[in-house]
Amino acid sequence: MRIGYGWDSHEFKRGVPLKIGGVVLPHSKGLTGHSDGDVLLHALTDALLGAVAAPDIGSLFPPSDTQWKGADSAVFLREAVKRVRAAGYAVVNVDVTLILAAPKIGPHAAAIRNHVAELLGIPPDCIGLKAKTPEGLGTDNAAIAQAVVLLQRKPATD
Ligand SMILES: [Zn+2]
Repeated sequence: MRIGYGWDSHEFKRGVPLKIGGVVLPHSKGLTGHSDGDVLLHALTDALLGAVAAPDIGSLFPPSDTQWKGADSAVFLREAVKRVRAAGYAVVNVDVTLILAAPKIGPHAAAIRNHVAELLGIPPDCIGLKAKTPEGLGTDNAAIAQAVVLLQRKPATD
């Protein structure tokens, strides 16, 4: 077994689409920063990379490299999944916590879990997703994501 942990944050800005877990959510602001600002997929990518002791997302896809500006973060997640498989592991389950003041994630949770499950090739009931508001943190203009993953060594195939 292997365990991995990832953390990420991005700032909200008006006029930018909000993408969380690869799903576009209706909101007046979106997340800026690395690529499409998908805070959930970035934390999850780092958790997967960390579990197999691979370089982190910022090393593999430097924010300074213009080819990643506005990029679909699914590209990063797919690379992390590829590295997990190459290392001889399969994803068992993931657990994600989002910390953001708005919008409410509840109405979109099923869509996000289904999409992340599809990206990872595991069932939606192996994707935990919780959203909290940042009480007392003073981070109302940011979204934070924390992700934990569990990997299991794949049985040798004949
Ligand atoms: Zn990020």
